[in-house]
Amino acid sequence: MKIALYPGSFDPFHLGHLDITRRSLALFDRVIIGVYDHGGGSRSLLFPTAQRVDLARQSIVDLPGCERAEVMSYTGLTVNFAREAGANIIVRGLRNSVDFDFELQMGQTNHWLADEIELVCLFANAPNHFFSATLVRQVATLGGDATNMVPPPVAEALRELKKKV
Ligand code: ADP
Repeated sequence: MKIALYPGSFDPFHLGHLDITRRSLALFDRVIIGVYDHGGGSRSLLFPTAQRVDLARQSIVDLPGCERAEVMSYTGLTVNFAREAGANIIVRGLRNSVDFDFELQMGQTNHWLADEIELVCLFANAPNHFFSATLVRQVATLGGDATNMVPPPVAEALRELKKKV
């Protein structure tokens, strides 16, 4: 069984994440989207962990093979969570050389920590290749319309957030 963990902050889950999930489902038997729980850390998040998990779950319901996908939150080392969840593959998306440099070092570190887990990187596809959660957050918090960058459940959550501000 090829069980892939797709880890990230997913704050929020956007169309680039959806594309990597869709392509992972075509490649692997099971896909676990691992939403990193920052706990009380300093990072300023748009959505709390439970909502990020919920939005990712709602966003993937129409993907082919979605019954083979699940969304879970985790803390600590990604390789430890991968082992606990029974994943033997970690999937990451590559948008540019900045992602590449980061993933190279992280992938080598993870291999050193857990050499039974293989890293698979998928290149970002147009038209979502330049999207990032940071970009979505910036557009949304500065009053712009980020809804074209995210799946409908996330667009709805961004609209709700806007009403509260
Ligand atoms: P982001 O990088 O969007 O701020 P994450 O840190 O949660 O958010 O990203 C999780 C994973 O998704 C990373 O491997 C990242 O490279 C990948 N990813 C992010 N945006 C895209 C995109 N537009 N296309 C493909 N993969 C992406």
